Amino acid sequence: MEAQTTSRKHIPVLPALINCKCPRCRVGKVYEHGAYHLFDNKMIPQCSHCGLVYEKEPGYFYAAMYVGYAFIVAELVTSGVAIGILTGSNNPWLYVIVMLSLVAVLSPFNYRYSRMLLLYFLTPGLRYRPELS
Ligand SMILES: [Zn+2]
Repeated sequence: MEAQTTSRKHIPVLPALINCKCPRCRVGKVYEHGAYHLFDNKMIPQCSHCGLVYEKEPGYFYAAMYVGYAFIVAELVTSGVAIGILTGSNNPWLYVIVMLSLVAVLSPFNYRYSRMLLLYFLTPGLRYRPELS
């Protein structure tokens, strides 16, 4: 008995997610540029490789706000605890300035990866299809 071999290569989920590849074929790009490309963090509307339309209905990416909210809460709690442990300060302005600056700096990351997590794990019926890659 011989295992069936194909010329298709299985692409693991984590590198595809980190590199913002299409959730269905894991080959096509989802964004035109990198996360910190100045003033241009647009999604490509359709996968160039398999033709998947990323926004399956108008307003679909509003759901990514919930994922982004979880990111921001995690960042605020982590940075608040880190400031408390590292400085031991009781000055609330130190906490406010550092925590809000961190959230502002990470906002392109939050925007991008909240949509990617929505596409990869929270979209019903959208799965990886290795035969398309
Ligand atoms: Zn694709």
